[in-house]
Amino acid sequence: GDLGSEQQGLVIAHFGVQVDVEALDGAERGQVRRCHRRANLPALVTGDRVVWRADNQQSGVIVALQPRRTELFRPDHRGQLKPVAANVDRLVIVFAALPQPHRNLIDRYLVAAEQAQLEPLLVLNKADLLELPEHAEIRTWLDDYAALGYRTLCLSATAGDGLDTLRRELRDHVNVFVGQSGVGKSSLINALLPDADLRVGALSEMTGKGTHTTTTARLFHFPEGGDLIDSPGIREFGLMHISHEDLLDGFIEFRPFLGHCRFRDCQHLHEPGCALLAAVASGAISPGRMNSYRHILASLQDN
Ligand code: GDP
Ligand code: ZN
Repeated sequence: GDLGSEQQGLVIAHFGVQVDVEALDGAERGQVRRCHRRANLPALVTGDRVVWRADNQQSGVIVALQPRRTELFRPDHRGQLKPVAANVDRLVIVFAALPQPHRNLIDRYLVAAEQAQLEPLLVLNKADLLELPEHAEIRTWLDDYAALGYRTLCLSATAGDGLDTLRRELRDHVNVFVGQSGVGKSSLINALLPDADLRVGALSEMTGKGTHTTTTARLFHFPEGGDLIDSPGIREFGLMHISHEDLLDGFIEFRPFLGHCRFRDCQHLHEPGCALLAAVASGAISPGRMNSYRHILASLQDN
């Protein structure tokens, strides 16, 4: 059919060879079209910026892909890494007093953020539980991360405390939420996206037609600004295999000490002349982070 003029678009969902594109300019701005891509283009993912043209009343064709600022990868069923989202710039790492948090999991997410060049935001949810003496210590973790230079926030999804600050933090960013099951990711996202039809939980109902799968990532706009890319799979971002080098690189406060150990192949476990262990002894690196590093290193060597 007739091709319309070239327009800027944003991929808000992808399924196989088709994508849903939101028009970013022109008369259709804000509207969504199902599009095919030209055969010379690579597979497109949610978050991609594209150039597209209308090809009839309902559909369109993607003619160009804009360079990606960042890419999130996940292993496919054969274990090969495939991009699943583009242009994400913020990793919202959610944890809570319950379920019991693990520092090495939080630190693993921080390593993944570093590797993917996403700015992490550490969110301690269920602030109401911190009033219990047995949970009070968790608050100090957040302070430790803030001291390392990370953005941090303590809030409660159910009580609503701190949600306005979170909304401001998410503005002007493309955000992804990660964290253990039960920490309150769904509760937070539901509070931030009041339009129930737009949530990931509602996806399975929308997919009755058969073209979607529930594992597909979708992009949502927060009413007060900023975007969310979400899917059950995306929430597991950060848990795949990392190299020893990436692990060390992801502990940002280790950097000044790397390369100063007596042995070039120092694992920083118990070697004499280890600059990292000396930094722990002098208080420049916290024992908790060092433990975390050891835990993650051991888990890499196990598999
Ligand atoms: P998800 O698995 O990370 O998506 O976690 P959910 O959003 O499903 O929340 C798990 C449980 O934690 C639910 O029972 C929520 O009601 C509860 N929850 C979420 N936010 C809070 C909070 O701020 N305080 C308390 N006490 N419970 C919360
Ligand atoms: Zn060392």
